[in-house]
Amino acid sequence: MFEPISIKKYVDLYVKNNPSEKKREVEERLRDVLHHAVTGTKCRCGNPIWVVGGADAGFSCFTCITGESSPNEDYEIDEHLSYLNQLR
Ligand SMILES: [Zn+2]
Repeated sequence: MFEPISIKKYVDLYVKNNPSEKKREVEERLRDVLHHAVTGTKCRCGNPIWVVGGADAGFSCFTCITGESSPNEDYEIDEHLSYLNQLR
């Protein structure tokens, strides 16, 4: 399961772990990936994009980025998770 996190919180966390990154640029990258994720862009394998991973690795899903089959308390942006829930 993914652990939901807001963009703001994730940006704070990301910049803490990557002090050379600028908050505004990280947030812009995340919002760009999120925009693609909610407007139909999918990973090359057909799965939904992992927005959090997409800030570094482009428009790919969790499995294609990490090589693991399913997330284990990995973060995903809350707005994207609620979008996916609506589709069910
Ligand atoms: Zn994939």
